[in-house]
Amino acid sequence: MSVPSLPLLGQSLSALKDWAVAQGQPAYRGQQLYDWVYQKGIRSLDQVTVFPKAWREGLQNYPVGRSQLVQRMEARDGTVKYLLGLADGQLIETVGIPTSRRLTVCVSSQVGCPMACDFCATGKMGYRRNLELHEILDQVLTVQEDFGRRVSHVVFMGMGEPLLNREAVVQAIRSLNQDIGISQRHITLSTVGVPRQIAWLAEQDLQITLAVSLHAPNQALRQQLIPSAAHYPLESLIEDCRHYMLRSGRRVSFEYTLLAGVNDLPIHARQLAELLRSAGRSGVQLHVNLIPYNPISEADYQRPHPSRVEEFVRQLEQHHVQASVRQTRGLDRNAACGQLRGSFLQNRSPLASNLGMTSRSQEGPTAGAVPS
Ligand code: SAH
Repeated sequence: MSVPSLPLLGQSLSALKDWAVAQGQPAYRGQQLYDWVYQKGIRSLDQVTVFPKAWREGLQNYPVGRSQLVQRMEARDGTVKYLLGLADGQLIETVGIPTSRRLTVCVSSQVGCPMACDFCATGKMGYRRNLELHEILDQVLTVQEDFGRRVSHVVFMGMGEPLLNREAVVQAIRSLNQDIGISQRHITLSTVGVPRQIAWLAEQDLQITLAVSLHAPNQALRQQLIPSAAHYPLESLIEDCRHYMLRSGRRVSFEYTLLAGVNDLPIHARQLAELLRSAGRSGVQLHVNLIPYNPISEADYQRPHPSRVEEFVRQLEQHHVQASVRQTRGLDRNAACGQLRGSFLQNRSPLASNLGMTSRSQEGPTAGAVPS
């Protein structure tokens, strides 16, 4: 019988049944545990009130696998950014983005990131470690619990490069789907591209959306912005995306952060359209997501004027490339990913006061806040 290793979050229903039996309990206790871990979002086993009191009190220190909420910051538009403390003291960021119909969570896949993109706050902090499966799932449960509302969409666009932590990320995608109930079609994995990994992902037969961070329409400029691109020629990346689209039948979206005067000129839009035309042959669908740069203190790029952004979209459309501009939410405008952690560690809290956000540090929220 396979008894799961710690922690409980991330374990399958059958593994939790085995765990209950190994604890001398009937297997249905494992089913109960599964519901309380994934649906009610318990933080400690003594919250499982359907368990016999003596047993659950004996288990109260057994690790469920939940992280600690260190800081919570809410923007005027309702976007909430969380700083979460992991068991070894590392800190990661997660963002909850509500609209009337959706609740999207932007999850981190690593502590820091080794890709070192020149305009990215996380890239500037360097790499610490990969996140474990339970540390990824916990982010979604935390947002669900805090909003008191079910998460509908998940984007792997927080800290880290998901394809450098592919096993945990793919397990998390499956668990988000099977155990937490989020449709795979509502999950997006964003990657800057790692050689051979997009092909590997294609073989996992997932129904998720792949988003590829391009940021430049030619190899020379791309390498300047994304050092890791030196090891992954743009033509190979585009070919891998084409293969992914054909294999999965899913549309790929390309992210393009607009940096004023660097990659936002009409010539860049034309080159980008040309590049994507090669990916788009064979009738596969693709889409460009333009992200006006969110200024970070560690880099001195500028956000382009909205008229420049509009012109870029117009150029792409003229060349029959579908494009949209990512809506800037309160936190995007004021605190790009990675900055909350940075400012917290420097023991200042300029974000909340400057930006009209309310900040509070707190203990983890109590379980059971999510309507089932
Ligand atoms: N490692 C993944 C996820 C990164 S975050 C990837 O590279 O795709 C998601 C997107 O935000 C990426 O396209 C990333 O390049 C972009 N991004 C990072 N910092 C940014 C900033 N300061 N302004 C605008 N976009 C940024």
